[in-house]
Amino acid sequence: MRKVILFSSETVLLLIALMTASTFVLTPAGRSGRLQAQERTRVASSELEDVYLRWPLPEGAEEYAEIDGRRLHELVVEQAEIARRYRDQGHPQFWGRITGTSSDAESAEWLAAKFRDIGLSDVRLQPFDLAPQWMPQSWEVSVTSEGQTLVIESAQPFYRAPGTTGKGLDLEAVYVGLGSEADFAGRDVRGKAVFTFSMLGAPSEDALRRAEAKGAAAVFDVLMLPGNMRYQAYPSGTDLPVFSVGSEDGFAVRDLIAAASPGRTPRVHVAMNVEMTPGLETALVWGTLPGRTDETIYLIAHRDGWFDAAGDNASGVASMIGLAQYYSKMPRSERRRTILFVGLDGHHNSGEGQGVGRMWMAGQRDELFAKTALMINVEHPSTVLTTVRPRYQSGDEIVWSNTYTAQQWYAGGPSRPELRAIAVAAFREFGVSTYLEPNPQPPAGDLGRLYRFVPGVATSDFLHYFHTEEETPETVPWTGLEASTRAYARIIDAVNELDLSDLKRPYEAEPPN
Ligand SMILES: [Zn+2]
Repeated sequence: MRKVILFSSETVLLLIALMTASTFVLTPAGRSGRLQAQERTRVASSELEDVYLRWPLPEGAEEYAEIDGRRLHELVVEQAEIARRYRDQGHPQFWGRITGTSSDAESAEWLAAKFRDIGLSDVRLQPFDLAPQWMPQSWEVSVTSEGQTLVIESAQPFYRAPGTTGKGLDLEAVYVGLGSEADFAGRDVRGKAVFTFSMLGAPSEDALRRAEAKGAAAVFDVLMLPGNMRYQAYPSGTDLPVFSVGSEDGFAVRDLIAAASPGRTPRVHVAMNVEMTPGLETALVWGTLPGRTDETIYLIAHRDGWFDAAGDNASGVASMIGLAQYYSKMPRSERRRTILFVGLDGHHNSGEGQGVGRMWMAGQRDELFAKTALMINVEHPSTVLTTVRPRYQSGDEIVWSNTYTAQQWYAGGPSRPELRAIAVAAFREFGVSTYLEPNPQPPAGDLGRLYRFVPGVATSDFLHYFHTEEETPETVPWTGLEASTRAYARIIDAVNELDLSDLKRPYEAEPPN
């Protein structure tokens, strides 16, 4: 049950200061992959390592035993620590490994150091200038009703949301449920703060744009997942200040609206200081493992992400590093093709300047990919399988399982049945759960801009903690990291049994939107 905490307005400023204090702590033992217990699962975090189901190494796959999920998980923790350092250096609300910031630079140097330690050659950072980047400096949202004030501490602005000016906005609150046309019927939202509710898995009602069209001044999209998560959303498609709000805060506001006396509708205060910061830069991080030939295999993983960004995409970067370690131990004569490892700048910075690294790669396709047999985009390879409000259980909570989720996947598309067969066999061999059918195009992520030029493989998943402050290293089962990384290695080895002509195809046309 939510404890609805109402504060006198005098204490609000103090609370705004307090709420920005860190809510998660990595223990000193974090380096070993063991994280402090948190209350969202009853299994202590220190025990998670032992409860996750591990797929046994199959017969005939002994060579992949060296790919050790526990060690890979330590790399996830190290990247979360980069993000938390950035948070603790004066960025308590909008934090992560954010493109163009010092955490981006630290992540690039960290990855380059890993590549050098492994012994990759030609390790380098390829810098890119960025267009001015959306950087919210601070914000505050509170709701006042009948003389008392509720601070909406879970409020997180949608990416690229405009800031406010002066002392901010002071608006009447209005509730529109799911935000369909029926929900808006009979309600005047002009110049008001609209509260609408959405749930992962429910159809989109396009409530944000509907609210804007009807004259709203600000919109609050309440995430109905249990808890009170801060969720960083992509742009709202409106020109309004739009915030996502955690479920506990959202229901509390709804209850204030319901309880208000006639004519005394709750008021919403919103203030947000946004800068479009010019002059920032990011980088691709390159490393090479030369093979017997100049034919190439690319392994790419985006380095950026919000909050800890443990699943998205510290897990992918960790898996990529694991593959670099694995293949570096093999004599060059046993590596048919040269493997290029690329830490991408990423793509969370939607809008101008987004994904500059991969766009550059797409532009250089004739030079980079003329002899490319395979590109694996290593993105979100392991996510804990969770269930929301399980049927016949009474708790309003997200319940954890002892395993990882099935992933969306893509393996070369319909013109490359051999590659698809290799991938399916590898997923099966190592216990990588997948959706039954491949995606027509790669799952959302970086291969989407490159797959038309290369034989591409990607697996990915996006579940309840995705893009939230609770997407901590614990949400990345080491067992899934191990399974996916071993499967990627099997795919690389099987592809090396094929000739380039078995895999290369003419560039594909862009799919119709
Ligand atoms: Zn991602």
